[in-house]
Amino acid sequence: MIGAVILLAYAIRIRLTVREGKKSYGIPDEMILYSDLNVPAAPLFSKRSRLAGKPDYIVQKENHCIPVEVKSGGGAHPHQSQVLQLAAYCQLLEDTSGMFVPEGILVYNNVPYTIPFDPKLRFELESVMKNMRASLRNGVVKRNHQEPGRCRHCSMKRYCTDVVREGP
Ligand code: SF4
Repeated sequence: MIGAVILLAYAIRIRLTVREGKKSYGIPDEMILYSDLNVPAAPLFSKRSRLAGKPDYIVQKENHCIPVEVKSGGGAHPHQSQVLQLAAYCQLLEDTSGMFVPEGILVYNNVPYTIPFDPKLRFELESVMKNMRASLRNGVVKRNHQEPGRCRHCSMKRYCTDVVREGP
């Protein structure tokens, strides 16, 4: 409940900023409670799930708060990793607000996709987080792709020792 009050406090400032003309991806201004795109926002933190992060927006839809993440890419549809990032924001928002989060919105190449935060996605998120924690504990992280394009645009490239190089 405290989380919900904090979100509402953000809302007043955010609505004013969004109205100043920055892109809101078709989301009506009055529904935006939080934005990390229009003004830098404080990260959300969940001790229970051991998660921290900042969704691009949090919007109010009917009686629920919904995270919104904005992505672009070369594919026809969002990547599963982007869906999982959104799922992590759903979990984070549920933990910090104490309210049920039924779905998130992934705006991919300017097209909004509604992603249900259903039992299947919750289980997948939990399983990925479990594997990530195990990798952190044992210090072994394996690359899960062979795509130079993903490494080219990766923000971790400069620290990574396993970058997939461009062709011959
Ligand atoms: S640079 Fe490293 S961390 Fe980034 S996508 Fe490539 S392999 Fe993964």
